[in-house]
Amino acid sequence: MSIKENLQNVLRPIPSTVTLVAVSKFHPASAVQAAYEAGQRIFGESRVQELEEKRPLLPADISWHFIGHLQRNKVKYIAPYIDMIHAVDTLSLLQEINKEAQKQERTIRCLLEIHIAQEESKYGFSMDECRNLLKSEDWEHLTCIEICGLMGMATFTDDTETIAKEFSTLQAFFQEIKVTYFSDKPYFKELSMGMSDDYLIAIEQGSTMVRVGSKIFGHRSY
Ligand SMILES: *Cc1c(COP(=O)(O)O)cnc(C)c1O
Repeated sequence: MSIKENLQNVLRPIPSTVTLVAVSKFHPASAVQAAYEAGQRIFGESRVQELEEKRPLLPADISWHFIGHLQRNKVKYIAPYIDMIHAVDTLSLLQEINKEAQKQERTIRCLLEIHIAQEESKYGFSMDECRNLLKSEDWEHLTCIEICGLMGMATFTDDTETIAKEFSTLQAFFQEIKVTYFSDKPYFKELSMGMSDDYLIAIEQGSTMVRVGSKIFGHRSY
């Protein structure tokens, strides 16, 4: 099957209110171009160097989302153009994004990554860490970022009940954070959850943004 057909198959069950981020990491610019020609405009990458290499080869109206773990010293490379950063998990990263966005005289949209899976991970806030950050108000004077919502990844398992439960927990937490800290900020509205194997479960549980890679571009060779 072609990338175009894969894309159409992925899009078919996605409601128009849900945004598809096509995750093109480890695939060449030609694959992105094929998806672009089939109508896709939003692409996700998880490594700065790879994104920097691919982007000049591709149409300028692509909306690039950074979905991977982002090191502070690399923010400056993507700050001029990145449309959304999905996996912010420290205050210091948020401050760095704000600083670089200010230099570029732009606002960068961010999501806070919440750790919901059973696997150990050094990345992502726990729910309490996230509450504490938002309570501290350290972020409120960061005027060149917009915290647009939350992002999470479910446990890597075939057990769809576990996955649904984790997504549902994140959705409830999203509502809590929205009413507690962002009731006057209409841009806080995105819940980024769901990948190739679980995006339909994620949508049932309230996802507004799905990040789908291998179902569109095929398997990645690392
Ligand atoms: C790679 C990646 C995806 C896409 O994974 P697929 O299983 O290929 O759809 C989504 N989100 C993040 C954070 C990723 O790193």
